[in-house]
Amino acid sequence: MSTIAATVEPTATSGLVEIHNVRKSYAGVEVLSGIDLTIEPGEVVTILGPSGSGKSTLLRTINHLESVDSGSVTVDGELIGYELRGDRLHELREREILQRRTQVGIVFQSFNLFPHLTALENVTEAPIALKRLSKDDARTSALGLLDRVGLAEKASAYPRQLSGGQQQRVAIARALALKPKVLLFDEPTSALDPELVGEVLDVIRDLAQLGTTLIIVTHEIGFAREVSDRVVFLDHGVVVEQGPPSDVLVNPQNPRTREFLAKVL
Ligand code: ADP
Ligand code: MG
Repeated sequence: MSTIAATVEPTATSGLVEIHNVRKSYAGVEVLSGIDLTIEPGEVVTILGPSGSGKSTLLRTINHLESVDSGSVTVDGELIGYELRGDRLHELREREILQRRTQVGIVFQSFNLFPHLTALENVTEAPIALKRLSKDDARTSALGLLDRVGLAEKASAYPRQLSGGQQQRVAIARALALKPKVLLFDEPTSALDPELVGEVLDVIRDLAQLGTTLIIVTHEIGFAREVSDRVVFLDHGVVVEQGPPSDVLVNPQNPRTREFLAKVL
């Protein structure tokens, strides 16, 4: 269990997700160099940036899949991986980390479904284990979620029987099953064949329109422009530029943003 210097200001929090001066190094190399970001409830924020700029690491600090070296992350006013004692943040015990992490859903590039469980069981597993939901309640809720992602008829299929797009939609249903306050997407369509990208983006678009708070890492610039309230451009572990997509994507001010967009557009 580790402790770090706290920079959390519990009274100053207003956003749903508050990232304060987050720093993270691997083997002495700084990957996040003092990130400050506030995400408002219902906001859809896209994070763009070159490979290696720290996008995945940043997402992973939000649900404490990665610890931070300093700074803090709160979700709805609550620290996810830590508790404040005096002026130090103490890392929580594993069980508490898992409990608090339920507030933050995450969907990965590589789906990460349990191969030995059906689509339905993939969705019910965490609510039963972590929220102590009864099997019947978890099942009813999971069937509703599979229906929402267009896969009601695939409830008893195993991941290997599903296309990549279908697997990713199950992964989204699974993330929603814990009723997270914010949902993170780390390049959710990067591993998909081109013809399967649209069905996954459709589901994410629906979530955005329903007012779900989303933080999305993607290289789908057209999609980002359409659904995002705000675009954040990350480079070398620093937020270089942020603003409405109509500014950042159309008329970027920073040369590094311009260079990146010239490559991906
Ligand atoms: P992005 O998602 O923007 O491509 P990442 O957050 O995955 O970037 O990685 C940022 C940097 O941190 C890269 O240089 C990567 O090699 C390094 N890195 C990421 N995770 C680890 C790890 N677990 N151990 C060591 N280095 C890592
Ligand atoms: Mg990444």
